[in-house]
Amino acid sequence: MNTIHKYQPSGRFGLLGLVIAPLTALAAGVGLAYVYQFLIELIPFIYINILLTVLFGVCIGVAAGFALRIGQCRNSMIAIFVAITGGVAGVGAGHQFAYMHKMVEYDDAAAAAAKVDPEDVWEPLTLERYLQWRVDSGWSIGKSNSTSTDLSGVTVYVIWAIEALVVCGAAAAMARMMCLRPYCEDCEAWLQQKTLGVIPSVNPGPLEQAVKAGDLVGAMTPTQVAGSPQRLTYTLAHCPQCEKTMFLSGKFEWDEIKGKKKERKSKVLVEHVAVKPEQVDALMQTIANPTQPVAPPAQVRAPLPGPGQLKPVKVPLPGKKL
Ligand SMILES: [Zn+2]
Repeated sequence: MNTIHKYQPSGRFGLLGLVIAPLTALAAGVGLAYVYQFLIELIPFIYINILLTVLFGVCIGVAAGFALRIGQCRNSMIAIFVAITGGVAGVGAGHQFAYMHKMVEYDDAAAAAAKVDPEDVWEPLTLERYLQWRVDSGWSIGKSNSTSTDLSGVTVYVIWAIEALVVCGAAAAMARMMCLRPYCEDCEAWLQQKTLGVIPSVNPGPLEQAVKAGDLVGAMTPTQVAGSPQRLTYTLAHCPQCEKTMFLSGKFEWDEIKGKKKERKSKVLVEHVAVKPEQVDALMQTIANPTQPVAPPAQVRAPLPGPGQLKPVKVPLPGKKL
């Protein structure tokens, strides 16, 4: 029988969330767009620009996620919709800010030209003319003029579309993740996260087999083995009001040495599985009094003799008997 049951969001939502979350997402999108556009125009490095685009989306998503959580939203479709609204508003506002910025520059240049020659009157920079100018000028990628690639024309629209997708995608992923965290339907409260404990030198095999077999008790009975580099951290999402609704997560972590670098690796054992308070108490006992590490299985083959054992023993030559 499968005793491992993962947390399933109910998909419910509060009406308050439907009002404050879109407004927050819009405000975050438009508000951050100014900073985003300023940095994009300031920094000429494409990789930093890509990072900024992702970060812009993540920030909109976090703002939307917070508002959705205040509004008790456990619905992923609503979270995605709200985040995309903020993302679209943010990208749109970014273009608007860039246009306004260029307009100031253009008007100054037009005024300067009119001073020199009063006959030289410039046509106002409409949004349409601005967009055409952006599409025609595009961007130039590369270190020098000889090796650079010019991106203009239709490519500009493609890049703008990718930018919008990245911002909306990052925002949606973030907001959705925040809304799908465990929630107590009885108390109408978000659960709080705490670390139960860390078991060093854990033997992962039996635990992973237990999870595969759907055996919750097995997944909560860690054993240790000498020399294992893996440690297991159990965390608990618990309802701060009733202290009955609880979901357990377990994650293995270990360091792998690659050349001179030490890399931290991790693997999820279980995530947000329903547990009872008494099961958590039993697990706490196990963590407090861990089993003594079991030695790894003995080698079947006898070890080869080391160089020291192969040295001939010095025996004095038989001398003449007196
Ligand atoms: Zn509760």
